Amino acid sequence: MKVLIYSRVSTDEQAEKYGLDAQRHALRGLATRRGYTITEEVAEEGISGTIADRPGLARVRDLLRSGQADGVLIYDLSRLARETVLSLTLLAELHTLGTVEFLARPSEDTPDGKMLNTIEAAFAERERSKLIERTKAGRLAKMRRGLVPCGPYPFGYRPEQPGKGAPYTQPGGLVIVEDEAKLVRQLYAWAEEGISVRQMATRLGASGAKAPRGGPWSKPTITKLLRNPVYKGTFILGRLTSDKKQAAWVRVERPEAEWIRITVAPIVSTVTWERGQACFERNRSRLVGRPDKREYLLRGLLVCGVCGKRYVGGASRGRRVYRCSGRDSLLGEHRCLGSRELGADKVEQEVKAAITDMLNNPRRLLGAEQYQARQGARHGEAEEVARALPDCRARRARLLDLAVDGTVSKAVFADRDAPLAAAGAAGRRARQGGRWERRSGRPGARR
Ligand SMILES: [Zn+2]
Repeated sequence: MKVLIYSRVSTDEQAEKYGLDAQRHALRGLATRRGYTITEEVAEEGISGTIADRPGLARVRDLLRSGQADGVLIYDLSRLARETVLSLTLLAELHTLGTVEFLARPSEDTPDGKMLNTIEAAFAERERSKLIERTKAGRLAKMRRGLVPCGPYPFGYRPEQPGKGAPYTQPGGLVIVEDEAKLVRQLYAWAEEGISVRQMATRLGASGAKAPRGGPWSKPTITKLLRNPVYKGTFILGRLTSDKKQAAWVRVERPEAEWIRITVAPIVSTVTWERGQACFERNRSRLVGRPDKREYLLRGLLVCGVCGKRYVGGASRGRRVYRCSGRDSLLGEHRCLGSRELGADKVEQEVKAAITDMLNNPRRLLGAEQYQARQGARHGEAEEVARALPDCRARRARLLDLAVDGTVSKAVFADRDAPLAAAGAAGRRARQGGRWERRSGRPGARR
């Protein structure tokens, strides 16, 4: 650091302990101890400490302002002025131009010492906020130029560091790290092949390849890589923010319209990336996944009547639907054809009604066998089946209503009505004293 030395003696301070030479000598020592370079030594003689307009101080101001020095070393506060108010005013002014350091500070428990601390703390704070502002301004300027402003940088990339004054040559100012990019491409290739994330983790773990940030190749790590649009060339900034309304510090997602997108060099093609997502969706739906932004309560619970694969939630022209996971075009000739896409609202309503019905009739929650065994022992099966008849009729009527107003298709109606019809017939037979035919081979029916 380049510094100035400022020393002063006044006419009425002839008897002072420290003359100019003593002050200079002490300050040179201070500069050496702190490793500073002295640019100029400014001295003022015979001028009273009460006059603010002094040629030596003017020189100090000029040198600091022009950047020829970064700071000034002064013996003590009284060298600026004898009056406290004036010395602090001058100090505040010098602080705006550079750093000010004293050899001898007034003791902390004197009024001068306290004021000096306060003023220095205030300036340090100002420095800090100025630094933050400068950093923010620097990041904004980079963003405006279409550059990724700051880290953490995604796996597979590092920030470009052009020489001073040289332009950025890479889109977004990110350079592809080829070793890491190779792993990313491998992941997307596996995703296209339908390899599960778990298998990918196992393979990479066995290969000994280094994972992002030195961590393990865990499922979340791979998931993040497969989900990150940066690999198709879009770096997204400002997706998450901290929610101040929450008691705990949590990260929440901002609306998509507020995201900032920066174009970078892609590592995989857009097609490969999208296929990676589709396949990933499929892998995910087989397991029990976390709900995505839209809720699909029946995800993985509905089974396709055509191919037997599970139904997954998805959007179709902004509408929530359930569709067979076997319909995925990636399955090629093995894909499920002919299964229907179901409007989520309708299916959920229907299932909800069935569950509500079940809860209103808790008997039905018991396993059929348990129910039969218990009731059969108590009243005899026939009696019980007959008792269920009115309920069976009501359910058929409700199903019929749904079919009439088009909520369920004819096929679905037929499919659901058949068992009810059979149960109804059995009930009628039971009521007529006929023998209800139990399906054979059911263990535990008579416990
Ligand atoms: Zn299917």
